[in-house]
Amino acid sequence: MNIVLLGAPGAGKGTQASKLAAEYGFIHISTGDIFRANIKGGTEIGKVAKSYIDAGKLVPDEVTCDIVKNRLAEKDIASGYMLDGFPRNLFQARELDKFARIDVCLNIDVPKELLMDRICGRRVCACGESYHVSTLNGATTCAKCGGKLYRRDDDNPETVAARLDTYEKQTAPLIDYYKAQGKLLTVHGGKGSPDGVFAEIKAKLDKLIAK
Ligand code: ADP
Ligand code: ZN
Repeated sequence: MNIVLLGAPGAGKGTQASKLAAEYGFIHISTGDIFRANIKGGTEIGKVAKSYIDAGKLVPDEVTCDIVKNRLAEKDIASGYMLDGFPRNLFQARELDKFARIDVCLNIDVPKELLMDRICGRRVCACGESYHVSTLNGATTCAKCGGKLYRRDDDNPETVAARLDTYEKQTAPLIDYYKAQGKLLTVHGGKGSPDGVFAEIKAKLDKLIAK
């Protein structure tokens, strides 16, 4: 099964993706992670991406679509994958439909007013785990791997406001795009724990898989 994960920044796409990977074995492909790895590695792509990411804007479509297209050309995706952070606008969604077969769009719906706090309180680990300061009890290392937790450069209030605006204007219209294709599956990601959200996702996905 090939899944597009949709949701505002801070909706919990990454968190749910790691749970889905553990449960179903789907490969997790995050364009944000790919860009951050490129920035860290000092590549050409990283240099281009950094200025857009710091401004809370989208990295140009040509760059992003190529990255995803190349990634989906690898063999390991045959058993199913999740796209996290792609597509992020209508152009990318239409491009994706040219080189991939998407089965379902999992939309994690979270009330807007929760997002700013969620992102600014987020602490991440290089292993991919993320946490919120409110549940860390002062811990500074990752419960999963012991790595040091840090705040992403773009998780500051100014950049987050721009990212939320970009989401509203460019990404939210994809909800209707996938609805029109009959592929939309919406779950509520605002209330309850990450495990509670995952339970709803699992129930809905299993129903779909059983069909
Ligand atoms: P979040 O979902 O928390 O905003 P991501 O890690 O998915 O974070 O993305 C971080 C940044 O990387 C985005 O704000 C954007 O600048 C860039 N980016 C990620 N995916 C895409 C994409 N599909 N198209 C354009 N830019 C992207
Ligand atoms: Zn870790």
